[in-house]
Amino acid sequence: MTINLLGLGRQELTAYCATLGEKPFRAKQLLHWMHQSGAADFGVMTDISKVLRERLCVEAAIAGPTVVQDTVAGDGTRKWLMDVGTGNAIETVFIPETHRGTLCISSQAGCALECSFCATGRQGFNRNLSVGEIIGQLWWANKCLGAYASINKGDARIISNVVMMGMGEPLANFDNVVGAMQLMLDDDAYGLSRRRVTLSTSGLVPAMDRLRDTCPVALAVSLHAPNDALRNELVPINKKYPIRELLAACVRYIEKAPRDFVTFEYVLLDGVNDSVAQARELVETVKSVSCKINLIPFNPFPDSGYARSKPDAVSRFRDVLVRAELVATTRKTRGDDIAAACGQLAGQVQDKTRRAERRNQRHATDAGIQESDVEVLP
Ligand code: SAH
Ligand code: SF4
Repeated sequence: MTINLLGLGRQELTAYCATLGEKPFRAKQLLHWMHQSGAADFGVMTDISKVLRERLCVEAAIAGPTVVQDTVAGDGTRKWLMDVGTGNAIETVFIPETHRGTLCISSQAGCALECSFCATGRQGFNRNLSVGEIIGQLWWANKCLGAYASINKGDARIISNVVMMGMGEPLANFDNVVGAMQLMLDDDAYGLSRRRVTLSTSGLVPAMDRLRDTCPVALAVSLHAPNDALRNELVPINKKYPIRELLAACVRYIEKAPRDFVTFEYVLLDGVNDSVAQARELVETVKSVSCKINLIPFNPFPDSGYARSKPDAVSRFRDVLVRAELVATTRKTRGDDIAAACGQLAGQVQDKTRRAERRNQRHATDAGIQESDVEVLP
């Protein structure tokens, strides 16, 4: 069986090279070729002996993702749909801005956590992505955007930031996500600083502590509600890790975080969590944590049952936070014309019948977050 070298971290690549009787510097060369030049085959690796290259061609591969759709929105946002087998698709989104370019990466096909306003959650959980499939999204986007050439010329990076905010709950696929992030941070691979890699979680408290101890990147936490009653409804994992425990984990995280704050994400849902009273309650709720609040306009999808908050509700909500001296940003909607939001496009190509069946079963058992779903978490 061929081994995909794209999915190997520095240590595994060094160990693999040792099995071939090669010294550790070969691993470094391979990292450079794959992640700093975007090599997709061994033939181009001119500083590696022909004999070794021929052996690698037989035993190993550099297998990037299978891209089935590539769409560019009017505002330059670009979205790739990638087939990850057995009828599952994931998506990767590039968001260009004036002084930075952000790549939004998926960590799972589907998601077990069933947040009520999320298209990915509606699909149910399919499977965890491997390290190769996660880093492969960055590798592919760099290739597609011509970024490797600019990295080698020493130009500003086209992809300057990575956010683990695509499909899936990254902390529920802990080892593979950390393995991929370590490649993002490795100077012999992508060399991004920990401040420029952000992981977004719905709040898996034990895994937040593990992340702090193993790979403390910038952290975003999907809060979405000022109290447990509402958060239980919107983000059902809250029943397992309620707000008080979540905030305590945030405080612990900040001790080791590359930034001295956590970003709280708050999707504004019309008439659900966007009142002035709820904004005041939010101010009280988060006051123990050094934080910024990112207000996100809801991205609608068919049968979601929610609507985007009205612009005046958004500004009233934001004003309450700002008057309380919280830093609150309102995320611009990007790539609306290509449905570049969490899970939308991949949702459209899924087998809708199966999805509908699963939803009906879940509603019938009225389980909210089921035990079997929780077991997949670390
Ligand atoms: N599972 C992780 C990361 C992926 S989702 C998490 O939940 O944090 C990234 C962000 O998009 C989260 O804040 C999530 O709540 C938000 N999101 C999900 N569905 C959305 C929608 N329809 N509109 C706007 N934001 C959404
Ligand atoms: Fe999963 Fe995040 Fe969507 Fe919740 S918001 S269902 S955790 S992907």
